[in-house]
Amino acid sequence: MFFLLTKHRCLVISDFEGKQHMDPLIVQGRDLIREAEKILVFSGAGLSTESGIPDFRSPGGLWSKYDPSDFYFDRIISDEKVRIKYWEMSTESYQVMRDAIPNRAHLAIKTLEDKGKLLAIVTQNIDSLHHKAGNSPERIIEIHGTAFSVSCLSCGKKYDRDEIDRRIESGVKVPYCDTCSGILKPDTISFGQAMPQDKMAQAIARANECDLCTVLGSSLVVYPAASVPLQAVESGAKLMIINRDETPLDYSADLVIHQSVSEALGSMVEI
Ligand SMILES: [Zn+2]
Repeated sequence: MFFLLTKHRCLVISDFEGKQHMDPLIVQGRDLIREAEKILVFSGAGLSTESGIPDFRSPGGLWSKYDPSDFYFDRIISDEKVRIKYWEMSTESYQVMRDAIPNRAHLAIKTLEDKGKLLAIVTQNIDSLHHKAGNSPERIIEIHGTAFSVSCLSCGKKYDRDEIDRRIESGVKVPYCDTCSGILKPDTISFGQAMPQDKMAQAIARANECDLCTVLGSSLVVYPAASVPLQAVESGAKLMIINRDETPLDYSADLVIHQSVSEALGSMVEI
């Protein structure tokens, strides 16, 4: 048997007699989606890498160029030199995210919403690709924040990221609040910074409510984020995991697919 990609981009298996069958794992995933009414999508870095955004933690990712321990929250707020380096790293990362476009899996999730099957998306990603794909903002819970806005840590004033990016492009090394001169920071959760309680509470509530939790491109090792699919399973939902590598929750999943997220989910939703 061998796999091939048809012009419709579905995963198809051809046997030695030339008969074609759908990959049984894709069929199982399609059936799980068909039976579900309230799907919770839990997405991680593996979904974004297929849109060309490198995983911070992978070889060649940002953490092979910068030392993440330089960017603990208390260091960012207490040391101007750290802030210079932080904005350099953060700008490099933002500019890749700004130019990235949703892949086939993001578009499949949008289709799930159009079909009335999507309860919510809980994402570890800060790249706004679920927004770009057209999902409703009220259904997207960004538990690690977003790189697309910036806030003043003193007065709370919000800035569009592109406005701050233009200041940096014009030579400013560390931008400050133009109202109170306070420290500005992208609205992402840094090391040593508390998770947003309200977003985690929303994510857990959706986990209790869903009937299928679909994990896409997350290795499920970063807590407390990874407690969301665990909660879904404990409350009786089915669990489907699509991730290139094994995860600690594979043993409790109804279906595990170690393949490309965009090929697998895209095929399930399109067939
Ligand atoms: Zn301010």
